[in-house]
Amino acid sequence: MKIGVIGGGQLGRMMALAGIPLGLRFYFLDPSTEACAGDVGTLVLGAYDDTAAIDRLLSLVDVVTFEFESVPAETVAYIAQSKPVFPTADALAIARERWAEKSLFQSLDIPTAPVYKIDSQQDVVDAFAQIGVPAIVKTRTLGYDGKGQRLLKSDADIAGLFDALGGVPLIYEGFVDFDYEVSCIAVRSADGETRVYPLVENVHRQGILHCSTPLADHRLQPQATAIAKQVLDHMQYVGVLTFEFFVQGDHLVANEVAPRVHNSGHWTIEGAQCSQFENHVRAISGLPLGSTQMLGHSMMFNLIGCPIDVPALLAVPGSCVHDYRKAPKPGRKIGHVTVIAQGPDELRERAAQLAPLINNDLSGE
Ligand code: AMP
Repeated sequence: MKIGVIGGGQLGRMMALAGIPLGLRFYFLDPSTEACAGDVGTLVLGAYDDTAAIDRLLSLVDVVTFEFESVPAETVAYIAQSKPVFPTADALAIARERWAEKSLFQSLDIPTAPVYKIDSQQDVVDAFAQIGVPAIVKTRTLGYDGKGQRLLKSDADIAGLFDALGGVPLIYEGFVDFDYEVSCIAVRSADGETRVYPLVENVHRQGILHCSTPLADHRLQPQATAIAKQVLDHMQYVGVLTFEFFVQGDHLVANEVAPRVHNSGHWTIEGAQCSQFENHVRAISGLPLGSTQMLGHSMMFNLIGCPIDVPALLAVPGSCVHDYRKAPKPGRKIGHVTVIAQGPDELRERAAQLAPLINNDLSGE
């Protein structure tokens, strides 16, 4: 089977690295000749709204998927006219718009921060009256890694806010005083089978994921699994869907979903029986899903902005290096390293050896 991927970055690259052994072939639509997925499949060069390029891709593939959610809706609708697309246009529309996402959670009784939809300065004033501060205002679309967000600490931060943020649709969210952040990666097949990976604790630095640690038998796993199954079934979703939650005591507060494989799931390549990438390509190509069970203990660190010292990283026992072959630029994810261990003590020891080697440059693109 031939898989078309919209986007030729590291997520597409890792999908192909997982799918090639299953006999799948990969074709990537990307505007850049340097797209790093070009190492493991065929690049179809073109912008994401270039119909001629999309037609070239469609002539080569059996099924289409995405490595990012901000694909123009028209592109998704156009592709869906001729080839199966996973996730579907409906699922993408929900996941790329924060209000739609929060409304979905609320309609399914899944706890979220208090939220208010903002389309004017008057809405900001009303949201402040209802929710107060501290709060976070976020753009409803195209926000990621903390971009397009503003923390509000007092009523002084409200004045002129709508225009200051560009007069674009926003969401006003009450600040959640969370204990820590977790994500949950889940996959659903076309015939409705769902599998859920262990919860992952995520630590961010300057809004960018720094490291992820899967948590064995976490007390909130049953809650996360139930939410994941509920949302996947409701959306009739096919493929990997990632949930981001805040942990507050004994509760999960849903923040957002990403309709794709996710950075916080990179540990699954070595740390789970079947990786998120393999399960995604299995789901969209109609193959049976694989086990999401953890293998031993693992932890993933992102490599951001600086050249990767592969020999130094590999000198740490249990480390598995992934260099995406992208030119280093401040703030740009260019690789990751997962360290695996037999038990928690060994993991701590190995992670401590790795930590000083992670010289990330987060100064922004
Ligand atoms: P997001 O783009 O929604 O994933 O937000 C980026 C980061 O901002 C999250 O990972 C949190 O660390 C923080 N954040 C977002 N929303 C809230 C909230 N309502 N309360 C507290 N922190 C938040």
